[in-house]
Amino acid sequence: MSKILIVEDEVAIAELEKDYLELSGFEVEVVNQGDLGLLRALKEDFDLIILDLMLPGVDGFEICRKIRETKNTPIIIVSAKKDDIDKIRGLGMGADDYMTKPFSPSEMVARVKAHLARYERLISSGMPSNDIIEIRGIKIDKTARRVWVNGEETNFTSKEFDLLTFLAQNPNHVYTKEELFQEIWDMESIGDIATVTVHIKKIREKIEYDTSKPQYIETIWGVGYRFKV
Ligand code: CA
Repeated sequence: MSKILIVEDEVAIAELEKDYLELSGFEVEVVNQGDLGLLRALKEDFDLIILDLMLPGVDGFEICRKIRETKNTPIIIVSAKKDDIDKIRGLGMGADDYMTKPFSPSEMVARVKAHLARYERLISSGMPSNDIIEIRGIKIDKTARRVWVNGEETNFTSKEFDLLTFLAQNPNHVYTKEELFQEIWDMESIGDIATVTVHIKKIREKIEYDTSKPQYIETIWGVGYRFKV
């Protein structure tokens, strides 16, 4: 039986949704507060979440965003606001659908069924696979932010990972230190391109067999670096 979470602070609406969904054979849990809804959504594996936007505690936008950090559970956003900006924001946050109050309960049930079916198809066809880069002995899972060197998982700091991944996904392209600094560190630190050199050195220690003869990240003297394929 599919389990559905309803996060809705208007009790009458929540009850109406619950009744219709239960009549259609779903197991339903109702939470009337945003923060509690978020907690339940993260803790439990629901098959679908019906999420009101304007909620006490944490609002629907934040809940949706937080759920999407770890879960692909279908989310239908429900709101009293017809405002298009809300709609775009809602969809931009990773929601799967959007309904404006008042809506017909049978339409809601139809949409719930459609999304559950779609999600099931997605799962049975294999979840969207992780984004993986494999170059010779190096395997980078961009989605999980994990790296294997010759089959052995190796830890990289966040910036090392970003730098290695950036170079590896643009192989044979020579980047200057300035470009790399701009790309990886952006505006967050006051420019010191020596940071790039330090990070390249650390990455090499982790991926190269012999750091004096790098096989992956090559130094192009007077220019910068490239990931050699
Ligand atoms: Ca509300």
